[in-house]
Amino acid sequence: MSKQFEVAVVGAGPAGYHAAIRAAQLGLKTVCIDRWVDASGQAVLGGTCLNVGCIPSKALLDTSHKFSQAQSEFEDLGIMTQGLALDVAQMQRHKDLIVQNLTKGVAGLLKSNGVEVVTGTATLQAGKILQVTDAADQVSTVAAEHIILAPGSSPVDIPACARDDKMIVDSTGALAFDTVPKTLGVIGAGVIGLELGSVWSRLGAKVVLLEAVPTFLPTADKQVSKEALKLFKKQGLDIRLGAKVTGSKIKKSGVEVTYEDGDGTQKLTVDRLIVAVGRQAETKDLIASDAGVVVDDRGLIEVNEVCETTCVGVYAVGDAVRGAMLAHKGMEEGVMVAERIAGGKPQVNYETVPWVIYTHPEIAWVGATEAELSAAETAFKVGVFPLAASGRAMASNETAGLIKVIADAATDRVLGVHMIGAHCSELIAEAVIAMEFGASAEDLGLTMFAHPTLSEGLHEAALAVSGHAIHIAHRKRR
Ligand code: NAD
Repeated sequence: MSKQFEVAVVGAGPAGYHAAIRAAQLGLKTVCIDRWVDASGQAVLGGTCLNVGCIPSKALLDTSHKFSQAQSEFEDLGIMTQGLALDVAQMQRHKDLIVQNLTKGVAGLLKSNGVEVVTGTATLQAGKILQVTDAADQVSTVAAEHIILAPGSSPVDIPACARDDKMIVDSTGALAFDTVPKTLGVIGAGVIGLELGSVWSRLGAKVVLLEAVPTFLPTADKQVSKEALKLFKKQGLDIRLGAKVTGSKIKKSGVEVTYEDGDGTQKLTVDRLIVAVGRQAETKDLIASDAGVVVDDRGLIEVNEVCETTCVGVYAVGDAVRGAMLAHKGMEEGVMVAERIAGGKPQVNYETVPWVIYTHPEIAWVGATEAELSAAETAFKVGVFPLAASGRAMASNETAGLIKVIADAATDRVLGVHMIGAHCSELIAEAVIAMEFGASAEDLGLTMFAHPTLSEGLHEAALAVSGHAIHIAHRKRR
C-alpha cells in the first residue's frame, strides 16, 4: 500500500525544501524525499547548496579572504600580523560545522512545519507514484496528488580529465583539500573555477585557470569582465583564455594537463587539478519512460513558465529545468509551485534573477547587458560610478570596481545593473528591488541613501545616467 500525500517533493536542496515548507505552511500534507546520507548513513538535507556548494564555498572564500587581507593589506592600516599562520584543518572544521548546523536546521524546519522526510532514491512512475529505494535496497511507494521534482544537478566530468578524487577532483573534492597544493590547475574560468581558484590562491597555491573560450566571463558586462580580469591577474591568478583542455595524465610529479591554444599543443604539470566545466541536471533514472514527463537531450525536465511538466500534477523546479542554475532561482520556483498547488497564481520574474560571483572583489548583476540591448536594438543610456570615488570605499580600503546602471533611452526604466566591488553580493539586492518595482533611473536618483555607504555608488550611477552624478567630474557648464 502506498502512503498517500497531497504533495510529494523529490529533493531537499534549496528548491525542494522551500517547496515542501511552503506547501506545508499552506496546510497541504507533504512529504520530502532525498537520498543524501553522510558517511555514517545518516540522512542529510539541504542538497548541493548546503553540503558541497554555496555554503561551504562561502566559508572557505571568507576565511581565505581574511587570511589574504591579514597577509597583504593589514599593514597598510597599521595592523601588524607577525607570526600569521594558516591551520587548514581548523579552517575545514569551521566549514564543516557551518554545514552541519545548516543541514540540521533544514531538518528542524521541515519537522516543525509537519513535513514528513523519507530517505531514499525516488523514481517517478506512471500515475503519480514514487517508488523509493533506501540504502538497504528496501522499496516503498509514495502516492501524491501533486509531485514536485527538485533533483538538482551534479558536476560535469570530462573524459580528458577523469576524476580520481585525489589529484583530479571536481568542486566537491576541491572544498575538502587538507593541505594547500603548491600548484593548482583549474579547468574552466567560470563561476566555480574562479571561486575555488581564488580560495586556494589566497592560501598560497600557484593557480592556473585554463578556459576554452577566448572571452573572459562572456555573459557579464564587458566593462565589468575587463576590470575583473585585470584585478584577478593582479592577485596572481594565471588565467589562460582560449585554452581547451584535451587530456591529462597522473604522474609521480603531479597531473600533466594537455591543452590546445592559439600556439598549438601545450603541457602543464600541477599538484592538483580541479575540473569546473559546468553542471548537469541530475535526472538519470529519475523518471520512468511511461510517467508522461518529457526530459530533453541535455537531461533537463521540460516545463512551462510556471514549472508544470508535460504530466498534469507533476512539476519540476531548480537546476533540473531551463534557466540559471542558481539556488535562489530554484527557491522561488519551489515556493511558486507550492502556492499554485494551493490555488494561488504567483509567477517567478525571470527578468530579475540576480547573478553573483563571490570572488574579491565580488561581481554581481541583474537584467540586461549593453551587448544584449544592442543586439535587441533597444536604445539605452548608461551611468557608471567608479568605487574609487566613494568615501566609504576609500575608508575601508576597498576602492576597486564600479557600479553601472543601464536605463531605457526613452522611458528611463532601469533595464540592467552591473557591478564589481566589495560587498556587491549584498548591493545587488537594491537593484533587484528597483527593477522588480519597475523603477526608473530617476526614481533611484531621487531616493535617499545613507552616507557614507557603498550603496551610494548605486545612487551616483543612477544619477550619472542623466549626467548629474555629484562625485564624478563633469565638463564645466556656463
Ligand atoms: P560555468 O559554465 O560557469 O563555467 C565552466 C567553464 O568551463 C566555461 O567557461 C567553459 O568554457 C569552460 N570549459 C568547458 N570545457 C573546457 C575544457 N575542456 N577546457 C577548458 N575550459 C573548458 O560552469 P561552472 O563554473 O562549473 O558552474 C556550474 C553552474 O553552477 C553554473 O550554472 C553556475 O551558475 C552555478 N554556480 C553558481 C555559483 C554562484 O552563483 N556564485 C557558484 C557556483 C556554481
